[in-house]
Amino acid sequence: MSETLTIIDHPLVKHKLTVLRDKSTTTGQFRQVLREVSLLLAYEVTKDLDLGETEIETPLEKGMFPSLEGKKLCFVSILRAGNGLLDGMLDLVPSARVGHVGLYRDPKTLEAIEYYFKVPAELGERKVIVVDPMLATGHSASAALTRLKRAGAKRIKFMCLLAAPEGVACLAADHPDVPVFTAALDRGLNEKGYILPGLGDAGDRIYGTA
Ligand code: URA
Repeated sequence: MSETLTIIDHPLVKHKLTVLRDKSTTTGQFRQVLREVSLLLAYEVTKDLDLGETEIETPLEKGMFPSLEGKKLCFVSILRAGNGLLDGMLDLVPSARVGHVGLYRDPKTLEAIEYYFKVPAELGERKVIVVDPMLATGHSASAALTRLKRAGAKRIKFMCLLAAPEGVACLAADHPDVPVFTAALDRGLNEKGYILPGLGDAGDRIYGTA
């Protein structure tokens, strides 16, 4: 539907997503399975990391072997649900730097208001992967990306679990330079902005706050 969108099509991702959608999945199971899915998604999203070569010695001989090069990756979590994706990603790339962006929507103006912003130094030299499980209207994701660009980020990807067509269109219009990765593209949004069929409120399901 959009040139910026990649749907990560893998049987394990699909199966685990069904577990996450199921309303009978407990908070503990939800958190565990989300962590597992985030590993699989991150594996795909990091496919084009830059590789150099480094000289090491195996027990048998010396040689040049592939190793990641360049500044450490930066994962940015959009609070609070983004943190549910972060842990699995850090299992995969333990040396990554981490940023956090907190936004809330002003109920009167509907504008995204920033309440927290902390990112690593030299953002412009890092590949940045922004994570939020749900790309619904796309308004807060777009505001977070704008803010990260203002802080210097240049090479950004956005990774989510579920996307609505509205959110994908919003990011494609506001940030056509940012590729979006998701496990599934759902039907649309309800009148409250929830993704359908979706999985409910991701933050509530991760933290058991419903
Ligand atoms: N945020 C959520 O947590 N769930 C949705 O369905 C939409 C936005």
